Amino acid sequence: MLRLISIIAAIAAVGVAGGGAAQDYPTRTVSLIVPFAAGGPTDTLARNLAQHMTKTLKQQVIVENRAGAGGTLAANVVAKSKPDGYQILIAHIGMSTAPALYRKLPFNPLTDFEYIGQVADVPMTLIARTGLPPDNYKDFVTYVKANKDKLNMGNAGLGAASHLCGLLFMSRIEANIQTIPYQGTGPAMAALMGNQVDLMCDQTTNTTGAIQAGRVKVFGVTTRKRVPSLQFIPTLHEQGLKDFEVAVWHGLYVAKGTPKPVLDKLNATLLAAIKDPQFRESLAKLGADAVTPDRATPESLVKHLKAEIEKWGPIIKKAGVYAD
Ligand code: ASP
Repeated sequence: MLRLISIIAAIAAVGVAGGGAAQDYPTRTVSLIVPFAAGGPTDTLARNLAQHMTKTLKQQVIVENRAGAGGTLAANVVAKSKPDGYQILIAHIGMSTAPALYRKLPFNPLTDFEYIGQVADVPMTLIARTGLPPDNYKDFVTYVKANKDKLNMGNAGLGAASHLCGLLFMSRIEANIQTIPYQGTGPAMAALMGNQVDLMCDQTTNTTGAIQAGRVKVFGVTTRKRVPSLQFIPTLHEQGLKDFEVAVWHGLYVAKGTPKPVLDKLNATLLAAIKDPQFRESLAKLGADAVTPDRATPESLVKHLKAEIEKWGPIIKKAGVYAD
């Protein structure tokens, strides 16, 4: 009987300590894990957000770059991490394309995480090195088709948004171009400006500065509407690539089993960021759109993730691309 009482007391003590720890979260540095190299668009968005989260959580939020396998390496790290809220994943549209692209995906986007909410939508731009001869979209397509065997296109690896956008573009103009994977589009952009890469599709968060400085050529944006801060760039859709659309959305994830008080705190932290005019403005300058509060919720993220998995699965299967 005494033994039973002490076992019950021990279980109760663990329960209180566990609950208390979750209530006190965070008591130490939190990592925001970026699945791509530093200097790229996901990294830029994460650094803006981490700064804001640090203020709200009153604990340092540091950005950790865990690049590899088109973003799936970092997602797997977080899926297998301790469910305590100290490792947060910021992942983009790749979370919904990976199940179709990877034959052996080591995690399940729909069952291995807790969901915090969506963060921002970011359009992409189709860009080229400045030395590429064409100066408008029509000539560009003609040039690419005529030189498809000589050209290459940089991206952030299989499953990255840049990869997806490139594939869709190539299939639409029926020109298969060699692709060169990097650990992120930060390094890929450096290669493009260094003339080692001819073309790339990348988020405005990475390309805006280079476009405005004339360090790359731009041939269109990938969203259906023009981007408010880059009004001078026509959409690919309006230039003849009818219905072409790649809008990169981002969400925050933690490991399955993370306690509810931690999830609530992280969600409140995300909401505080997206409601802050300064945060919204810092993204808007880079062509990115912080989501509206109704989308910065776990329910909205799961719903969108499911819909996107259903949308992209058949498109990727039809394109016949996959990774082992
Ligand atoms: N956003 C890039 C992509 O998916 C990767 C990066 O952030 O570096 O192509």
